[in-house]
Amino acid sequence: MKYALISDIHANVEALTATLSDIDAQGVDRIHCLGDVIGYGADPSACLELVQERCDIKLLGNHEYTALGRQSTDLFNEAARLSAEWTVGQLSERDLEIMGAFELDRAIDQAYLVHASPYRPDSWHYIFTTDEAHLAFKHLKKKLCFFGHSHLPLILSQDADGNPRSRVGHSFEPDPDQTYLVNIGAVGQPRDNDARASYVVFDDDAYEIAFHRVEYDIEKAQSKMTAAHLPEVLVSRIAVGR
Ligand code: ZN
Repeated sequence: MKYALISDIHANVEALTATLSDIDAQGVDRIHCLGDVIGYGADPSACLELVQERCDIKLLGNHEYTALGRQSTDLFNEAARLSAEWTVGQLSERDLEIMGAFELDRAIDQAYLVHASPYRPDSWHYIFTTDEAHLAFKHLKKKLCFFGHSHLPLILSQDADGNPRSRVGHSFEPDPDQTYLVNIGAVGQPRDNDARASYVVFDDDAYEIAFHRVEYDIEKAQSKMTAAHLPEVLVSRIAVGR
């Protein structure tokens, strides 16, 4: 089976539609979404509708968790808080219903899917380094975990003796003797100095992982954010991918 995995769309419908078109050209069997469909961008409802229509497994991100009132916006920085407040004002009953059905985590055949970390998924830990990956590896019950949250394509691996290694996200064939945490990067707000949308295709028969980048109409997404009076720092960052 071939799975496309997407995460951190952040209400960027231009990035999402371009990514879905690219995915359609890959001939995948299923699309799974690892959360943060909303927040930061100008089109939360349109993105929720598309994810609902196109994705099989749909996971909660911290932005959905906050919009559903399960945690306070106090945990956000100022720009994130302002955009979260704007987002809540845009959401319909149907949007809340769609997000309300999102799951915290899910295991598929050969992989575990989560937004932030296998260690306490609803605590939204960030994993950037092998040190930060320690607890995640400890709590991971599969050889492979796909996650998002930091918006940085990243591969953290651990050998049978527990020795960790970290690499920038790239296409590879996992070694069946190693355990992997694979950050698939962000569709709607990449932060690895590459403004293109990021997603991953996992072929569990060939046991291959492929990273993909997709160009989209960034200026259009920015002009809608500006018209919605979303914070300038959020508007400018999507053009530079930071
Ligand atoms: Zn995010």
